[in-house]
Amino acid sequence: MKLCVISGDGIGREVVPQAVRVLRRLLPALQIVEAEAGWDTFRQQGTALPAATLAAARECGAVLFGAVSSPAYPVAGYRSPIVQLRRELGCHANMRPTLSLPGCGAAEGIDLMIVRENTEDLYVGEEQSDGDTATAIKRITRVASRRVAETAFRLAQDGGRHRVTIMHKANIMPLTDGLFRDAARDVAADYPQIAVDELLVDTAALKLAQAPQGFDVLLAPNLYGDILSDLAAAFGGGLGVAASLNLGSEAAIAEPVHGSAPDIAGRGIANPVASLLSLALLLRHWWAQPTLAARLEQAVRRTLADGIATPDLGGEATTAAFCDAVLARLD
Ligand code: NAD
Ligand code: MN
Repeated sequence: MKLCVISGDGIGREVVPQAVRVLRRLLPALQIVEAEAGWDTFRQQGTALPAATLAAARECGAVLFGAVSSPAYPVAGYRSPIVQLRRELGCHANMRPTLSLPGCGAAEGIDLMIVRENTEDLYVGEEQSDGDTATAIKRITRVASRRVAETAFRLAQDGGRHRVTIMHKANIMPLTDGLFRDAARDVAADYPQIAVDELLVDTAALKLAQAPQGFDVLLAPNLYGDILSDLAAAFGGGLGVAASLNLGSEAAIAEPVHGSAPDIAGRGIANPVASLLSLALLLRHWWAQPTLAARLEQAVRRTLADGIATPDLGGEATTAAFCDAVLARLD
């Protein structure tokens, strides 16, 4: 087993090495390949995603991507390395779970997973403008819609989940969102043991805000998934604990949702939970190690339940001390 580790910038360099330290305890034979990406890399090498990094990621298949800083103004030649990496590695689905974790101010009883299409829709930013009229292309394909639906239903089945809710706005956009919905319904027919239903995306936002406990797996086109997953993250304890996995057939990228957090970088106090839970997703869904994934999740949960937390959650633990506490609770 190999893991390509891309720490990136800012707190990526703090949370990633600590999370990897915990992972090594679970997988002693794991081979780690370190690679560079991000803003510092761009300044040193003129590219934010060097070819060597891409090659290492491809070779390993499994990647942990910390966080990178992006310039707030356009810089010639700079492209977001994570967007490029997801595309180059063919990660067609993005999964973002929201859980009720102890000590995070989260509501009780939430255990939902948003599965978002990761390659098309308005999100690709294909726009035109003459200055007074601007147009964006919303392209939805049956191939991509079926592919992400397959992933969502398979994840539901493997994860012992019971229901997939398809989100769309097919009442207004019957051709694009209708295609997404119909493709997902076709796939659902192959999974008779998983219940399927659908919701208009605005209604879904309302219901999510009222009762996130009522959801299981939510399947969404790219842009709706982007927006709803941030909404869902608000119930789970915020950015310090929000985990994600980009999944394809050739590779998977574990990726904490947060950025490089320049406001706290360099102090060793960043919350490693988002990275630890992203690694748990990698263990479960890429390496097919559900027992190890559950051990890691349980250890994180027990650490938080014991009142150990970094300052973003009101605690006093450093990144390293939190991970020491997780290691102590792994067995
Ligand atoms: P951010 O996620 O870096 O930080 C937002 C706030 O949340 C900050 O107050 C930060 O201290 C806090 N926070 C985030 N993660 C935390 C953690 N693990 N522990 C404790 N506190 C945490 O978002 P931002 O400030 O808008 O962006 C900072 C930089 O990160 C920018 O350059 C932006 O472009 C980049 N960014 C990168 C990614 C990515 O790499 N995927 C995602 C978002 C933003
Ligand atoms: Mn987003």
